[in-house]
Amino acid sequence: MNIKELLDYTGQILQVERFRDYCPNGLQVEGRHEVGKIVTGVTASMALLEAAQQAGADMVLVHHGYFWRNEDARLLGIKRKRIQFLLQHDLNLVAYHLPLDAHPEFGNNVQLAKLLDLELDGWAGEQSMVAYGKLANPEPLSAFEARLAARLRRQPVTIGDPNKMVGRIAWCTGAAQQYLETAVELGVDAFVSGEISEQTVHLARESGLAYIAAGHHATERYGVQSLGRHLAGRFGLEHQFIDIDNPV
Ligand SMILES: [Zn+2]
Repeated sequence: MNIKELLDYTGQILQVERFRDYCPNGLQVEGRHEVGKIVTGVTASMALLEAAQQAGADMVLVHHGYFWRNEDARLLGIKRKRIQFLLQHDLNLVAYHLPLDAHPEFGNNVQLAKLLDLELDGWAGEQSMVAYGKLANPEPLSAFEARLAARLRRQPVTIGDPNKMVGRIAWCTGAAQQYLETAVELGVDAFVSGEISEQTVHLARESGLAYIAAGHHATERYGVQSLGRHLAGRFGLEHQFIDIDNPV
């Protein structure tokens, strides 16, 4: 199908104009106009671009694209090589950042909740990026952490008493440790995000909240996959998710 039609639809369902974001959402590098196969991935690294091209992609759909606010705008070094590869192979690069974190069906936060059996109660914080809700049955922090590790296939970094009972949880995928205070205000037992900073440890200890850094990549694998599946189903396209492993 024509990429313009596809992206008009995607932009509409993700309500991209609602967000103040740090990068352009939608088509970032233009390639061929007909799309039959979409490859999805978390980050538009060279490894993903090469795997996508090998897999016969017409369009690479990611959560982390290019052209971030405050980055050097020039096409030098790594950035030049990535963009040269896309142009050489006539590949489209499409990225959705905050709209894909927040979407009520395909979003990273909702998809993570499904994976961890969290019931969503609402949204809080800046641009409503922090989700909160509960576990059907409260459990010790150590049990929750173990389930999380198994489902995300990655051992989290956890700050808190392993025997503490957790039932009310807030979460935000990716590098969202700066929202810890929002979670404290919500009065939840634990906050799950992707990354952790040195200071997060002290803030978590002093707030009494358990903090789980479950992996930036690991928590953001799911939104782009669910969006890719949806687009493929709706428009009769081929879709393949390619996971380029990342320990962070
Ligand atoms: Zn991210």
